[in-house]
Amino acid sequence: MRQATVYIDQEALQYNLNRVKQLAPSAKIVSMVKANAYGHGVKDCLAALSATDAFGVACLEEALEIRELGYHQPITLIEGVFSADEMQIVIDRDIEIVVHHQQQVDWLLQHKAHYNAKQLKVWVKLNSGMNRLGFKVPEIIDVINHLKAEGFTCVLAMHFANADAENHQLNEQQKNQFLHVKEACTPVLASCCNSAAIFKWPELNFDFVRPGIMLYGASPFADKSAYDLDLKPVMSFEAEIIALNHIQAGETVGYGSTFKAEQEMDIAIVSIGYGDGYPRAYPKQNYVAIDGQLTRVIGRVAMDMIAIDNTELKASLGTKVELWGKTRLVDDVADANGTIGYELLCRLSNRPDRVVLKK
Ligand SMILES: *Cc1c(COP(=O)(O)O)cnc(C)c1O
Repeated sequence: MRQATVYIDQEALQYNLNRVKQLAPSAKIVSMVKANAYGHGVKDCLAALSATDAFGVACLEEALEIRELGYHQPITLIEGVFSADEMQIVIDRDIEIVVHHQQQVDWLLQHKAHYNAKQLKVWVKLNSGMNRLGFKVPEIIDVINHLKAEGFTCVLAMHFANADAENHQLNEQQKNQFLHVKEACTPVLASCCNSAAIFKWPELNFDFVRPGIMLYGASPFADKSAYDLDLKPVMSFEAEIIALNHIQAGETVGYGSTFKAEQEMDIAIVSIGYGDGYPRAYPKQNYVAIDGQLTRVIGRVAMDMIAIDNTELKASLGTKVELWGKTRLVDDVADANGTIGYELLCRLSNRPDRVVLKK
């Protein structure tokens, strides 16, 4: 059988959740489990996240999956409902919504009695300059005050466009607008921190923090690793050596013959490729790890196979190769491929086996 396996370490997930608690002790934690828990498998992640206060997802289907798995914590639909019909379903299943445009507010008002009877909070999104979703200032102040007058419990919500950047001017603008609206709508619950903001701005933790990537043990910052942040990688992605070759100087490897050996060398072929979700782009040299030691990927990534340099390591057939995990961090693989760890984690295919390392 072909060996390509994704291991999910539930203890690491709990460790990272605990890191959020340390960094934001007074806030409630809305664990972001959208996109199948960032590709980790929502079922196995929920089982390890029993200490969270709530969950955040991107659409109704993802929220219903959580209810079907038997979890009763609050859930926030971060983009709200996409049609009037979804309103009744969210209320029946105790799912909280974000409202970010007037149509959603109208749908909500039509269901006022039922929504409020369930004591669901409504999250009202501020567009403070990211320009994806939300009401701008000053309109948002009227929206929140109106909803409060109609008996809703409101959470002022905002998302930073550059929380991962050291000194971006938009950060100050976004913070100032958020604080202004919070003040103007007092009393109102508030939430604006994703992983990067949780690390950077403890003073903005407020009532709810919304960690995503840090829970999975990857870094939101380009210049800090998961280990720098005291996070533990949750996913390990492994394959196996399925063939060994010895090549002479001048020989090439793989499609397009892009790698040419400068001297005699040993190479190993590993059972992984873009068909599994391993990235094919290679603007920078990429590496894999064997027994905690790095070795380079050579030539092009194919659908089912890669070649690695085996000259120094002399690994044998059947040896396990870590594509990303505890030694070769997913963020470094992403960096070598011109993307971010988030994308690599989310876009694994369903071909690798999945194994849960239980707590
Ligand atoms: C995905 C998401 C988050 C989590 O962001 P990370 O960078 O993964 O921590 C927080 N808030 C909102 C609204 C999101 O969509």
